Amino acid sequence: MSENRGKFTREAAQAYLGREPELISTQLSKRLWTTSDGQCRSLFAEADNSVLAFDTFGTPGRARAYKKAIEAAIPDKPVRNIIYTHDHLDHSGFAADLAVDAEIIADVICAKVIKLRQAEGQTQVTKILEGKEHRMNIDGLEFTLLNPGPTHGSGNLSAWFSEEKLLFSSDTILANARYGFMPDYHFCNFVKFMRGFLELEWDTFVPGRYELTDRAGFERGCDFIEAIQIESQNAFAEFVPIWAFEPMKAYVSGKLTDRFGDMDGFDEHIGEMAIRIVHHYLMGGWGMEDTPVAGVLLADEVTL
Ligand SMILES: [Zn+2]
Repeated sequence: MSENRGKFTREAAQAYLGREPELISTQLSKRLWTTSDGQCRSLFAEADNSVLAFDTFGTPGRARAYKKAIEAAIPDKPVRNIIYTHDHLDHSGFAADLAVDAEIIADVICAKVIKLRQAEGQTQVTKILEGKEHRMNIDGLEFTLLNPGPTHGSGNLSAWFSEEKLLFSSDTILANARYGFMPDYHFCNFVKFMRGFLELEWDTFVPGRYELTDRAGFERGCDFIEAIQIESQNAFAEFVPIWAFEPMKAYVSGKLTDRFGDMDGFDEHIGEMAIRIVHHYLMGGWGMEDTPVAGVLLADEVTL
């Protein structure tokens, strides 16, 4: 079977694109479920006559596995609405493999980037949201979508379910240190906007990867990223060769192991994270990604 390829050009990618992992679903409340393959995670919700899915799980095969997981949890209702939490293919690609003809809801900047990207199989957005806060009622399902500003990817949306006291924010704060090299994180305001979510009433945090956490875990996650940002700046003052992996890893590990060394994945990932973040300060960001109004360059250039 030939899958939609996203941005891959090599036939060999079919093996990755078509694989359907086993997903484990957990019911979080009467209407909310989360499902995960052990790494990627998403959220879906039962509405009056349909299902609302966040994201797509990121490959055609994974989207089909997501569809099966949803059907196993809620057998008698179709997925009619999909919310893209941001533009990245590994979260919002290949929606047709999850639900053909579903309404695709996303922030305007996410919609513009996806339109310009023209990745094979990344379904275009059909319902566009503009602004920082949206009180949603989708087929009887009430919740709030929030875009405080650029955090991760383009047009990021987080979901607050006040009734369940639950926050879902994909690809932002993890309950561990397994971030990798943090592509497309916007460090000028990332921690500030994440901490802003603590003003809302919630007890459970669902990330886009790995395990759930609580408010204390979320705050510690914010502290962790902030601490790497601080030590990455200190590395300049101490003339660490910031372009080299081993010296940066050794420097930041030395500063942060006492506070954060117990976090799962710390040793394996702290060097990558530090290299990425130190280059944010070296270069000031990548083009428009860390400007306060990231959408301005697309404002008059893309019509939806
Ligand atoms: Zn992402």
